[in-house]
Amino acid sequence: GCTAQDIIAALKAGAAVVAEHRDELIQLDREIGDADHGENMDRGFRAVIAKIETSEPETPAAALKLAATVLISTVGGASGPLYGTAFLRAASAVGDEAELDASAVAKALQAGMEGVVARGRAEVGDKTMIDALSPAVDAAKNTAESGADSAKVLAAAAEAAHQGAQATEPLVARKGRASYLGERSAGHIDPGARSTALLLTAFAEAAG
Ligand code: ADP
Ligand code: MG
Ligand code: MG
Repeated sequence: GCTAQDIIAALKAGAAVVAEHRDELIQLDREIGDADHGENMDRGFRAVIAKIETSEPETPAAALKLAATVLISTVGGASGPLYGTAFLRAASAVGDEAELDASAVAKALQAGMEGVVARGRAEVGDKTMIDALSPAVDAAKNTAESGADSAKVLAAAAEAAHQGAQATEPLVARKGRASYLGERSAGHIDPGARSTALLLTAFAEAAG
């Protein structure tokens, strides 16, 4: 099962992948936004790790809630409140269980996506992080239903998120800053969809 320690390891892996891809995320956001997504995410995840080291959350929900609070207060931009809400909803979805099974992991991911939709009102095809999250949630659900463990659920989610992020390239943005560009937003991968795919890959690797 997935314990608080596993969530902490996943968040650390997430921070590492965001740091490693900081410049790439900046470049993607330079093409259709304001060139700060890599910086925003790197600042936020560094702060999450710093906070985890001092407060040592003891349940999965506490670790997810800590991430949410820190991301909301440090990432800024459009993506900060959206990622923050995702982690907050995921925290509520897992309750006070000490260990999450595969189906709880899939449900947490779904709750996270629903939080992003509730807050940002994006639909699939709007060229946002939802284009990575939504196929990830479907893949996670199907994989959990087939009896696989949490690592396989996250691996399937990550794979689907990468395809979803890649598929944002030809789309015209209908939400967020990129939508100001209209047709000119086509031909570029959405930075938030890319960061979602990278994070899920890191979470899957930490779990496997
Ligand atoms: P900002 O656009 O304020 O500079 P960031 O650059 O950190 O914020 O994040 C941009 C990303 O946020 C986009 O690539 C997109 O994936 C995501 N985003 C923006 N608006 C929305 C929304 N309404 N719903 C879902 N995701 C969104
Ligand atoms: Mg930006
Ligand atoms: Mg900005």
